[in-house]
Amino acid sequence: MQLNNLKDPQQVVDFATAVKTGLGKQQGLFFPAKIPTLTGINHLLSMNTQSRNFHLLRPFVHENIDDEALHRIIGQTFTFPARMQTVNAQVSCLELFHGPTLAFKDFGARFMAQCLQHFAGNEKITILTATSGDTGAAVAHAFHGLDNIEVVILFPHGKISELQQKMFTTLSGNIRTLAVDGAFDDCQKLVKQCFDDPDLVQAVGLNSANSINVSRLFAQICYYFDALAQLPVHRREQTVVAVPSGNFGNLCAGIIAKTMGLPIKRFIASTNLNDTVPRYLQDGVWAPNATVETLSNAMDVSKPNNWPRIEYLIESGQFDRRLLSGLAVDENTTADTLQDLYRQGYLSEPHAAVAYQGLVDSLTDDELGIFLGTAHPAKFKSTVEAILGIELPLPEAIAECAKLPDLSTRLAPDFKALRRYLKS
Ligand SMILES: *Cc1c(COP(=O)(O)O)cnc(C)c1O
Repeated sequence: MQLNNLKDPQQVVDFATAVKTGLGKQQGLFFPAKIPTLTGINHLLSMNTQSRNFHLLRPFVHENIDDEALHRIIGQTFTFPARMQTVNAQVSCLELFHGPTLAFKDFGARFMAQCLQHFAGNEKITILTATSGDTGAAVAHAFHGLDNIEVVILFPHGKISELQQKMFTTLSGNIRTLAVDGAFDDCQKLVKQCFDDPDLVQAVGLNSANSINVSRLFAQICYYFDALAQLPVHRREQTVVAVPSGNFGNLCAGIIAKTMGLPIKRFIASTNLNDTVPRYLQDGVWAPNATVETLSNAMDVSKPNNWPRIEYLIESGQFDRRLLSGLAVDENTTADTLQDLYRQGYLSEPHAAVAYQGLVDSLTDDELGIFLGTAHPAKFKSTVEAILGIELPLPEAIAECAKLPDLSTRLAPDFKALRRYLKS
């Protein structure tokens, strides 16, 4: 499938190029001009996950990945389930956090890693990325042990929780981590300097594997089908999906799923106080405020970088804008909602609580609600414990990591030092 640069219509690339380059000219996002529509949706929903995912992903990638390779890639990507957990008679949580780093970002990161490796062949690639927490872990685990791919992750020394840090600094082999004496912004600046150095890019095969890589979105389409497959056939068309949103990749994937033919009735874009999109949906004015810190910090984004893709689907007439509403949830309501869920017997965390509140706010009696659980409650242990007044045990994956030695190297916030390190 050909992908267009949404900022520069002259630039049209295939899937392999889009995966390898990430961003197009003028920092434009790659996206299909027309989303393929599928027939026989109920038949698709009756298949097992791996076979269904093959049919879902094939139209996007088949010019570059043959069927045998795609089956292999899918087998390596979807190694854990997207599980529907009933909360009450009308609402379920689609739990996307049963992967190696306990966050939904595992789906996208693993598919991207497998695709990149497939396209790299014998070329050596160095993935260079900066993280303030979650993304680093998902990327590190997704690439861990892949041949010919080195991963270098920069993070601000002393600025992220020890547990979060250990989820990516304890892997050996092809994963190297650098604790930078500075803030997250310094890390990002260093990464940018590297990509601005053509000699370095060439010498070590630099690639960013960043969050706007279109391969991530495609992988995320699959679990929306998984969700409806777990509902009775006669209820599927009444389903409303609430997505806790930051950069809006997750919601974009859901809208692609609907455009392909999945009979979701409508979507709710739930945000925290970083409410650029809910305000935009309300009054049509795009007016980002300064980013504020919230309990659901993975959604502290005021300029969501995937929004142009959703806008494109609306403007090109592929998605009906009236099927999307927005809700911004404040901090007190987030805490109250988390308590409410707990009283109903469901232990959650702030991001999913924001999404659930979107359903509470608008679900009608004849509808069925699904909210997306994007992270395991233990990833936000201290926040959840403080709000619920309970003690949370650490899940095994994190407890194991916590025992391992931290293998990160300290680095001064100095481009020349980083350049030397990468070339060594
Ligand atoms: C990244 C993230 C989100 C936001 O997802 P987007 O695709 O950026 O909208 C929500 N919850 C958690 C836990 C996340 O890590």
